[in-house]
Amino acid sequence: PPLYKQRYQFIKDLVGKYKPKKVADLGCADCTLLQMLKFCSCIEVLAGLDICTSVMKENMHRLSPLPGDYLQPAERPLTVTLHQGSVAHKDPCMLGFDLVTCIELIEHLEQSELVKFPEVVFGFMAPRIVVISTPNSEFNALLPGKALFRHPDHKFEWNQAQFQSWALETARRYDYSVEFTGVGHPPTGMENVGFCTQIGVFVRKYPQTSESAQSEKPTEAVYKTVFRAVY
Ligand code: SAM
Repeated sequence: PPLYKQRYQFIKDLVGKYKPKKVADLGCADCTLLQMLKFCSCIEVLAGLDICTSVMKENMHRLSPLPGDYLQPAERPLTVTLHQGSVAHKDPCMLGFDLVTCIELIEHLEQSELVKFPEVVFGFMAPRIVVISTPNSEFNALLPGKALFRHPDHKFEWNQAQFQSWALETARRYDYSVEFTGVGHPPTGMENVGFCTQIGVFVRKYPQTSESAQSEKPTEAVYKTVFRAVY
């Protein structure tokens, strides 16, 4: 399967393993991952965040309930919400989540946004699990073409050591553990190149209830809600 499908499958597997009730996808783009997660029966709250409203709106209708959803309601409640805003800014609507996914997001952040990102996601949102994926630049030599980056909007592409040192320092600072994996295997004999997409799975080391998270962090709302569906 194509790489993006492998990344989404990785998240689906993780949802199957940890059974989160509330999942937020940061940099959700055209909401493809959210559409897949809609069918995970453990999830009761799904939220998407992107800085770009138009990309979120492209396929937004697919997040709306279908006639069948009304005729045969699911056993659990499900609310799907889309917000316009930046991962460099805190908003209380992002509190209380169990799993936060950031798939191919960080390499699109300006340096000033990347610096604020850990405090927003790990310090403020502080979900039980954070997943971050980003291209592994060591794999680029195996890809066709000679462009500097895989996509013209990428601000950087990290090798394994660069990603891992950033992730380990972030995990240490915010009291998370982190494990590294990826999708897109290198050819046999070239294992040292690593995965095409590198992934860090961060797990919070300290317990926290969503209630305490919300009451202790009074913050003004800055995101704009662009979509909401209640199943
Ligand atoms: N996560 C999706 C996926 O895996 O298919 C799409 C990732 S796309 C390559 C990166 C997305 O991040 C874009 O939709 C872009 O608008 C969004 N983005 C860029 N900077 C952002 C920011 N500061 N806050 C939130 N989203 C941002």
